[in-house]
Amino acid sequence: MRYVIEGMKMKKKIGKLFLIIMGISILLGVGYIIYQNNVNKTVSVMQLEESPKNDAPPVICLKGEKEITLNEGESYQEQGYSAIDEEEGSIVKKVKIEREEIDKDKYKLIYTVKDSSGNEAKEERIVKIKRKNKSKGEKNKEEKKNNKGIIYLTFDDGPSSNTSKILDILKEEGVNATFFLLNYSDEQENLVKREVAEGNAIGIHGYSHDYGKIYKSVDSYMENLDKLQEKIYKSTGEKTTITRFPGGSSNTISDFNPGIMTKLSKEVEKRGYQYCDWNVDSNDAGGSDSENEIYKNVVNGLFKNGRNVVLMHDANGKGATVKALKKIIKYGKENGYSFQVITPETEMVHHGIAN
Ligand SMILES: [Zn+2]
Repeated sequence: MRYVIEGMKMKKKIGKLFLIIMGISILLGVGYIIYQNNVNKTVSVMQLEESPKNDAPPVICLKGEKEITLNEGESYQEQGYSAIDEEEGSIVKKVKIEREEIDKDKYKLIYTVKDSSGNEAKEERIVKIKRKNKSKGEKNKEEKKNNKGIIYLTFDDGPSSNTSKILDILKEEGVNATFFLLNYSDEQENLVKREVAEGNAIGIHGYSHDYGKIYKSVDSYMENLDKLQEKIYKSTGEKTTITRFPGGSSNTISDFNPGIMTKLSKEVEKRGYQYCDWNVDSNDAGGSDSENEIYKNVVNGLFKNGRNVVLMHDANGKGATVKALKKIIKYGKENGYSFQVITPETEMVHHGIAN
């Protein structure tokens, strides 16, 4: 009996326990469902906040042509544009323009805009540059501007009555020349002084021009050179180390004394002189006796962008040279040449020795 009662008590206890466990399980289940619901709600709220307010990108509209041609030298004027976003309205202020080079005659303008949601719009415009076909006149103008040519006007065999006229023209034109002198009289000394005073350069042609005398020997030539050197120093207080051989270093008139020019060209340099020939001949001592001929000989003989040592003469009877001089200077100036004098620093023009 006792056992039966004990057994019944046990059953009751087990039943109670079962009910308690069930109750806890139900509570836990309901709790979980509520929790899950809350989690889902939170997630969906977060998702809503992250998703774009609008999916449509903005639109850029370019005003004017999408391909524009400019003439060389002309600058591009922005033709205008609009940028509209469905949500935000005009966002034209947010437009950025970048330039991208395509080649030397073409570039691209890239217009981009982003709305607040990060959607982007892009447009492009091509700008072409039409290069000028330079006219002959323009090309000439440019060429003259870039001319680095130098003209060294040189006058041999003076001074004479023509020298003062030449000095007047040089002064008037603001140009200087180099005079290769022969012996001069006391009356002519002022001309030599004036040459120096007005910024011209002086070189020695020789006390005498007599080929038979001066090319007889090295000594007679050097004596001829030194004698005038001394005289010039007395007149001007300046010593010149620049010389020009009568007939030029390439002369063959000295053939009566074979090899004399070979010897002299070395000897003058040994004694501290430099000799200077010419590379443009006015031919005013070779048969051209008209102003126009002398002018043409000089201007047609000029080396563009080069160094031009122009041979002329200021001896008596060279009136045509005087007349041509102004035109020659005018031509030189108009064509971009600079006028310089020969100094010991000048790179000398040499013909080449022929005897
Ligand atoms: Zn001469």
